[in-house]
Amino acid sequence: YVKDAAELPYAFYTEEMELESQRLLKLKKELDNALEYNQFELYFQPIYFTPDKKVAKVEVLVRWNHPELGLVMPGSFIPLAEETGLIIPLGKWVIEHACQALGELNYRGIDIGMAINLSPRQLSDRTLGPFIEQTIQEFKIDAKKIELEVTEGLLIYNFETVLSQLQALRAVGISLSVDDFGTGYSSLSYLKRLPINALKIDRSFIMDIANDANDKAIVSAVIAMAHKLNLLVVAEGVEQQNQLQFLADNHCDFIQGFLLCKPQPFERLCLTLEQK
Ligand code: C2E
Ligand code: MG
Ligand code: MG
Ligand code: MG
Repeated sequence: YVKDAAELPYAFYTEEMELESQRLLKLKKELDNALEYNQFELYFQPIYFTPDKKVAKVEVLVRWNHPELGLVMPGSFIPLAEETGLIIPLGKWVIEHACQALGELNYRGIDIGMAINLSPRQLSDRTLGPFIEQTIQEFKIDAKKIELEVTEGLLIYNFETVLSQLQALRAVGISLSVDDFGTGYSSLSYLKRLPINALKIDRSFIMDIANDANDKAIVSAVIAMAHKLNLLVVAEGVEQQNQLQFLADNHCDFIQGFLLCKPQPFERLCLTLEQK
């Protein structure tokens, strides 16, 4: 029998939750076929040298062209792909297509680096390191042009597996950066334990940097600390001129954000990079 809704304050909420979990289940199933149906697409966002605002490298950001939902952002499907394990083949797809794009840019005479995001789970897979080395060879990419962005979630996996792969990748000339720096639990132990080259300061610290005294203090201290450790610093999510000014005044090496350029499909990226 059905009770009156007023007597069941949680019934409505439960129904919403049920719908949400059904939606996620459907998305998860569709995600499983998305690789096969070729529904993923890479977008690219330039990262600029702070002093001269020249493009230093581009970050590769995956999107899912869903037949009904349109362009789905990685925040909605990467966590699902991590859960289902699809992140392993999807991650390889990203690496392969990023290298192909970089080869194409080189062919067009554009000489830049590329930063590729890795989920922690990918690095716990022992075939990842060899796959990356093989792929850069296949596309005749100089390893120095590749940077891998990793997050603090790494440390929950088998540390030996993760570390030995990162060391092998560093040994062939690939760079490593810590993404979303400052948002995890173990940021500083990371710096000690991993062979990294750069930090990316998370957007949440940049957002209010023009006004918030704590954010100013945190960001200027992180930049100074990174430089003492011989690490480069990238600021993410720069949207305003006054944020850029603060970062330049504090010697942040690289700037990334909508103020300078949004992520864009490959052909648009080529136009952006060629108009100079
Ligand atoms: P992330 O690596 O920290 O990437 C930066 C995110 O910030 C991107 O979101 C980018 O579009 C966004 N962004 C850049 N500048 C600005 C700005 O000025 N303002 C604002 N509001 N946002 C800005 P996106 O593309 O939605 O990616 C979200 C996250 O998904 C990434 O965060 C990364 O963790 C993950 N991701 C994206 N592509 C891949 C991938 O190929 N593999 C893996 N494993 N993760 C990926
Ligand atoms: Mg990133
Ligand atoms: Mg980031
Ligand atoms: Mg971030």
